Amino acid sequence: MATTTGQCLCGMVRYRVTGPLGEVRYCHCRMCRRATGSAFSANAPVPVERFALLAGAESIREYEASPGAFRCFCGNCGSPVFARLARDPGHVRIRLGGLEAPDGVVVTGHVWTESKADWFTIQDDLPQHRHGFG
Ligand SMILES: [Zn+2]
Ligand SMILES: [Zn+2]
Repeated sequence: MATTTGQCLCGMVRYRVTGPLGEVRYCHCRMCRRATGSAFSANAPVPVERFALLAGAESIREYEASPGAFRCFCGNCGSPVFARLARDPGHVRIRLGGLEAPDGVVVTGHVWTESKADWFTIQDDLPQHRHGFG
């Protein structure tokens, strides 16, 4: 299966994803906006057995942004790397920005558009969901 690697900004945290990514979503929720410092985050779920931390596990810090939802980032440079949900221990939700060459990315749509930044205009034809789904 195809693999792709990724890393945080400083390079301490390195990881590998094997096989295809799950559905990619652009999340416009307030928490993603704050966590990324940008208009939205691009996330994809990956089964934990296809996600491997190659380096820097000890550098990862977790922030429990809402009960049971942990945002995992590099403690050195602050890059968001992935999130994990206590209610879904079989997946991590990786942040696509750190990937070198994500293979076969299919973006499913925009979620939490009710919180979308006024200064960002969606200009594609992907489905828009006012709230999250799944
Ligand atoms: Zn880093
Ligand atoms: Zn979000």
